[in-house]
Amino acid sequence: MSSLFSLLDKSACRFADRGAVFRGTEQLLTWSELRSRALRLAAGISGRCQGGDRIAVFSENRPEYVELMFAAWAAQAAIVPINYKLHDKEAAQIIDDAGATLVFVSPKLAAGLRRSSSLHRDRMVVIGEAAYEALLAHEPLVPPVVVPQTLAWLFYTSGTTGRSKGAMLTHRNLLAMTMAHLADVESLDEGSSQIHAAPMSHGSGVYVLPSVARGARQVVPASDGFDPVEFLELCDHHPACGAFLAPTMVQRLRLAVQQGGRAPPRGLRSIVYGGGPMYVEELRKSLAVFGPVFTQIYGQGEAPMTITALNRAAHGTDDDAVLGSVGWPRSGVDVRVVDPDGSVLPSGAVGEIVCRGDIVMAGYWRNPAATSQALHGGWLRTGDMGSFDEHGCLTLRDRSKDVVISGGSNIYPREVEEVLLAHPGVDKTCVVGRSDAEWGEVVVAFVVRAPGAEVSAAALDAHCLDHIARFKRPKEYHFVDELPTSSYGKVLKSELRRLLASG
Ligand code: AMP
Repeated sequence: MSSLFSLLDKSACRFADRGAVFRGTEQLLTWSELRSRALRLAAGISGRCQGGDRIAVFSENRPEYVELMFAAWAAQAAIVPINYKLHDKEAAQIIDDAGATLVFVSPKLAAGLRRSSSLHRDRMVVIGEAAYEALLAHEPLVPPVVVPQTLAWLFYTSGTTGRSKGAMLTHRNLLAMTMAHLADVESLDEGSSQIHAAPMSHGSGVYVLPSVARGARQVVPASDGFDPVEFLELCDHHPACGAFLAPTMVQRLRLAVQQGGRAPPRGLRSIVYGGGPMYVEELRKSLAVFGPVFTQIYGQGEAPMTITALNRAAHGTDDDAVLGSVGWPRSGVDVRVVDPDGSVLPSGAVGEIVCRGDIVMAGYWRNPAATSQALHGGWLRTGDMGSFDEHGCLTLRDRSKDVVISGGSNIYPREVEEVLLAHPGVDKTCVVGRSDAEWGEVVVAFVVRAPGAEVSAAALDAHCLDHIARFKRPKEYHFVDELPTSSYGKVLKSELRRLLASG
C-alpha cells in the first residue's frame, strides 16, 4: 500500500509545470514546486523530530497548509490540525495532549499562543517567517516507505460532550477516504479546482487528498476562509470549481447570489456539504439557484467524511424523504442500525448508527477507555440515531443524546425543526428537550425569525398542528437573535439546554 505522500508524488510527476497552489487568483506553486517544497520542509522537520511524532498546525486557511501536510507525511510524522477559531488556551491544551514536537502557527495566531502555552520557543515555527524559511533551506528528503497503520492525522473532536478527544487517523484511513471520495462523490481531474473556503483543519483539509491525487488546483481564498462574494468570484476565475461547505455556508452563498442580484457562477462544478443537518427547505432553494451541483456526505471525525452520501443524481428526486436523508453507505463501508444490545434492526426502525471499514479510526489518542466505548469488533459507534428505508437509504435523526423523550415517546428534534423551517416566518431554529416533572421532558423550540417577520408562538403552534403529531410539537417557544454555535459553526444544543436549565 502506498503512503499519502505518493498522491502528491504522482501528480507532480504527471503535471509538473501546471499550477498547483493558488492564493485567490494568484498562482503560487506548480506541482513540481509543491513537491520540492514539501520534501525540503520534510528534511527540515526530520532534523527536529522522529517518525511517529505529532506536528500541530494552528492556522487559518493558508496555502502553506498543503505543503505542511505532505511534508509531515514524508517525514513519517502526523499532522494535528487545530481549528483557528479555538481560544489560544484550547489550542495549547490540544498541543499538550497530543505531545506535539513542533507547532506551526500562523503569524496572526502566534502571539496569542505564545502567551497561553508554555511551549519552548524552539518548538514553535511561525509559518512564512525566518524559522520556516530555514526549514525550507534543506536538501529534499527522499520519502521513505510508510506502513499503512502509521498515524497521519490526529483530529480533535469538538468536545461538546466533554473533553476533546484525538481521533487517530492513519495513512490507511485517509487513503480509504480518498478512494471512496473519488468513487462515490465526484470525479476530479487536472482541469478542476478545489476551493478551500471551509476550515482546512476539518473537512476541507482532508479533501486536499482526492483533489491532489487528481492534479486539481488547490485554491486558498485570499481572505483565508469563507467570504461568499469572494467565493463566487473565484468560481468565475478558476476552472470547474468544487468545495466542501457546511450547510450554513451553502445558505450564505445562496443569499449572496439572490440578494446581490448576481448570476450563479459559471465555473461552479460541485458543492459537497455535510457535517450538520441541511434542511429540505434550504436544499430546495439552493438547488433552484445553483442547479444540480450538490452531494451530501455524512461522516464524523472518527470516520472522516465517509459513512454515507447522497449523490448528485439523487438530488434530482421529488421525494422530500430522500432529500432529507443522508443517502447510501459509501464504497468500502458497512453501515448498520442497531439497538442498545448491538442487534441489527430492520428497515424503518430507529437505532444507533454503527459503521465498519478501512475508514474507521484506529482509536482515540492515549484514551483506551473512550476507545473501547467507541469501537466494538471493528464497528464504530457513531452516537447518531437513524433508520434505513427499504431501499437502503439512511435517514439521520439526531445524536442519541439529543433525542427528546416526552411521555415515553421518542421525539427527533430534526423532524420538528424541518417543519418549523417550512414556515416563512422562521429563519433558523433549534429544538431541544427540557426536563419536566410530568412528562419527563418537553419539547422546546428556539427560533430566529426571518428578517421583518412577526411570527408568533401561536402561529407556529398552528403550523405544527397541521404537519406533525400533537405530541411532537413544541410546548414552549423562545425567540432569539442568534443560535449559539461551535467553532465549526454547529449549533450548540448543550448550550441551549444549559440556558433552559438556568431559567
Ligand atoms: P464532526 O466529528 O465534528 O465532523 O461531527 C460529526 C457529527 O456531525 C456526526 O456524528 C453527525 O451528528 C453530524 N453530521 C455529519 N454529517 C452530517 C449530515 N450530512 N447531516 C446531519 N448531520 C451530520
